[in-house]
This record gives sequence, structure tokens and C-alpha cells, in this order.
Amino acid sequence: MKYDPATRLQETMHLDPHNGVNQAITDSATFAFDTGEDMTACFHGEKEAFLYSRHWNPTGFELSKALAAMEGTEAAWITGSGMGAITASLLQLCVAGDHIISSVTTYGGTYAFLKNWMPKYNIEVTFVDITDIDAIKSAIRPNTKVIYTETLTNPMLQVSDVPKLSEISKANNITLVVDNTFTPMIFSPIALGADIVVYSMTKFVNGKNDTTAGAICASLDFINSLIDLNDGTAMLLGPVLDPMRASSIHKNLFTLHIRMKQHSKNAAFLAEKFVEVGLKANYPGLETHKQHSLFKRDYNEEFGFGGMISIDLETAENASKFMALMQKRGVGYLAVSLGYFKTLFSNSGKSTSSEVPEKTQKEMGMSEGLVRYSVGLDNDMENTWQIIHSCLTDLKML
Ligand code: PLP
Repeated sequence: MKYDPATRLQETMHLDPHNGVNQAITDSATFAFDTGEDMTACFHGEKEAFLYSRHWNPTGFELSKALAAMEGTEAAWITGSGMGAITASLLQLCVAGDHIISSVTTYGGTYAFLKNWMPKYNIEVTFVDITDIDAIKSAIRPNTKVIYTETLTNPMLQVSDVPKLSEISKANNITLVVDNTFTPMIFSPIALGADIVVYSMTKFVNGKNDTTAGAICASLDFINSLIDLNDGTAMLLGPVLDPMRASSIHKNLFTLHIRMKQHSKNAAFLAEKFVEVGLKANYPGLETHKQHSLFKRDYNEEFGFGGMISIDLETAENASKFMALMQKRGVGYLAVSLGYFKTLFSNSGKSTSSEVPEKTQKEMGMSEGLVRYSVGLDNDMENTWQIIHSCLTDLKML
């Protein structure tokens, strides 16, 4: 029996202390104590209480419990962006002299952090093709602390073999950190063997493109270490999410299961249409996708193959013309980010992966004409396809 993220999440719903159907927003940065002794005890970890909102806020705490249930972890902590979650986790796990193995295809910001920022603090990173298990094994060193990957990588849509990576990590005392931003509910990385799951909640999890936010789902020990008053990375670097936003994301979380099904349904439809007209389409739901069967082995089937597709239009110029016309005709927006109810598209090599040098982009097989789609929640995808088709025809790309 696979993990059931939607039901586990729904089980966390409860009335607030005033019987409100949504949780109250605690609009306070600081919290009062009855006595000085109580406050001292809290600072020494001898008494549990809300102390200060950079540590815990009741609204954020409610959201974190929901996220932990969705992922099947003991605890979670929420951040003001996905990068806040990724950087806090990695800096908590590694010290100077340590080594990380990372998928070379990750979100460009993550790549830049690992490639340019970490070495400044003497943390070395080896980038690998995450589908090449032998390459991962041979990259392991005595000081390797983390294997980092995205369940479905950005923008190449490679599927990580989380159970295999988990086996390798466990055998070598390494922590496996998985970014599940592209595939919430579709994959349950903890059930597959990951140690820590991170999210950019800016994307599908919130689904409204009204804020940036992130999450770290992990063991209670890890979350407590992150917010330790004396040396917790999250506590001391301070990337916490505001309670107002935590409240709105919490409400949006309870429609995530329905949204993911519709994103997947629309993307699968569009991917088939792209293939039918002879375009080079990359979508894990297509049988031609290299890790299609791996995806099918590990996914929570009812949520489908996700909302992300890419097509290859060979040149950046083609991609640019096509995206501008699609926007003009109302298909969606030429914008970075993903997981929105309207379709978004961008040319990855020139935008969200522009931090990756062109040579590395070529090595990983990223075409300069790659158009990445985050397919929206359109009710009539046939109509959307007709408009996309008219753009392709009018630009003589078919
Ligand atoms: N992880 C993935 C897979 C992403 O695509 C992104 C952003 O595009 C991030 C993390 C970073 O998230 P944020 O922009 O919320 O900091």
C-alpha cells in the first residue's frame, strides 16, 4: 500500500480554538510569559511555549503539521521561499570540509548555490547525472554528507530513483535530500526512502503565484536542530515565513490533490498532441520518456504524471517568437515559475537555468530552444490546444 498524502493531510483538519473552520492567524512576533522563570525555562528548552515568531508562530506551526502529515514526516518547518528551505537544510547538514553530491539538473538557483556559494565556505559539490547510479557511487568520498536531487528534475524532467538513492545513502551514512517541488502528492519521497523533503511552496503547493514560500519536512530531531536557539541554521539565518502567508497557503493546501489531478490531465493531453504533430516533447507520462516505467513504479497513480512538459524548438529565437505569440493569444503567460492555475512558459536555458553555463547545459542535453510549460487548470484543453496549434502553424513551425 502506497502512502496516501491527500488523506493524511485531510486528517489534520480541525476547528480552531474559537470553532473557526480555518485556523486563526496569530498576528504576533513575540509572546508574553506569566513569569520570568517561565521565560528562562523556555530559553533553556525546559518548557515548551511560543516565544518568538522567527522560531515558531502558532499559524506557521499549524501549516507545518499539515505538511508533515502530507509527507509522512514527524515534523516540518516553513520558510519565506523555496531557496530558504534548500539553503537552510544544506547548511544545517554540512560544515566546512564536507562534500555534497548533487544532480546536475536542478533548479538554476539551487545549482548556483551549490556551484558558486558553497565552495566559498569550503563545502565541495560534485554534480552528476542523477540517473547514472554508477557515477553517483564513484562520486562518494569519506566526507560526503548529502546526496541532493529533485524527484522530477528542473527542467530536464529526469526522474530520480529515490529508493536506489536511499539505499546508497544509507549504506554510506549520507543524508538524502529530495526537492519535490514539481511533484507534490504524485511522489511521497519519504515513503520511498528519502530523509528530508524540501519544497518551493511558491509553485504547485500554494498554486496561486501570490507569494514565495518554502518547506522542510523531516524528523523532529532535524527540525529541532534547525531552530536551535544557539546553532540552528534556520533560527540564526532567519528565513521564516510570515503568519499571514502561512494561513493563506494552509487553506490552499487542501485543494492541492484536486489541482494536481487536473494539471496532470491537461499536461498529458497536451503532450500527446505535441507528439501527434511531430514535435519533440518531453513528458514523463509518455512511453518514450526514458524513466516512464520508473515513474510508474514509484508514483501515487491517482495524481498522474504532473503538470510539467517541455518541447524542443531547436533555437532560442524560435522559442521566443512562439512564447510571445502564445501569450498574445491567451494560452498563458511568458513567465518563470510554475504550478499556477494559468499556463506559464519560459525558455529554461535563457531564464531559470541561465545560472548553468552553456557548456554544461549542452552536456546535460538542454536545447537552447527548450520551452518549459507548467500546464494550467484549463477546463477545455482541446480549445487551448487549437490556439497553440494556430501559433505553431502561423509561425511555420510544423
Ligand atoms: N526548487 C525548484 C524545483 C524550483 O523550480 C524553484 C524555483 O523555481 C526553487 C526550488 C526555488 O524556490 P523559490 O523561488 O520559492 O525560492
